[in-house]
Amino acid sequence: MADLDDLYREVIFEHSKKPRNFGKLDGANRVAGGHNPLCGDKVTVYLDVEGQGVKDVHFDGKGCAICTASASLMTQALKGKSEPDAKALIERFCTMLTGDPSAPAEDEKLGKLNALAGVRKFPVRVKCATLAWRTAEAALAGASEPIKTE
Ligand code: ZN
Repeated sequence: MADLDDLYREVIFEHSKKPRNFGKLDGANRVAGGHNPLCGDKVTVYLDVEGQGVKDVHFDGKGCAICTASASLMTQALKGKSEPDAKALIERFCTMLTGDPSAPAEDEKLGKLNALAGVRKFPVRVKCATLAWRTAEAALAGASEPIKTE
C-alpha cells in the first residue's frame, strides 16, 4: 500500500502546485463562494450549466494544499456530468471523507479522487477537502438564471 500512498501524495502535490481550471470562468451562470474558517481556505466555484449538464467548471481563491488539490480534482470530476450525476458524485465524495474512519475508505467508483481518502484520518483537514465540493453543490442548487426547458 505504500506505493499507492505515494501515488496519492503525488496527485495531491501536483494538483496543489498546478491547479486545473483555476481562475474566473467567463460565461459562468452559477457561482458560489465557500469559506473554511478552521484553516482559512476560501474558494469561489464557477459553473456553466446548460441544458442538462455541467458544461464547464472553474474555481479560484486561496487555500491550503489539500483544499486547492481537492478543488482542482473537483473541477475535472464534475465537468461534463449531468446535474444529478454531479450532485451524486459530490455526495459520494463527501461521504467517503466523513464516513467511519475504521471502514474501508477506498471507493473504486471515485477513481483518482481516492487520493484524498487519507484526509479523513485528520478530522481538522476534512473541511479543507470538502470545501470546494460543498461550494459546487451550493452553486448547483442556486440557479442564478431562471430554469429553462429546451
Ligand atoms: Zn485548508
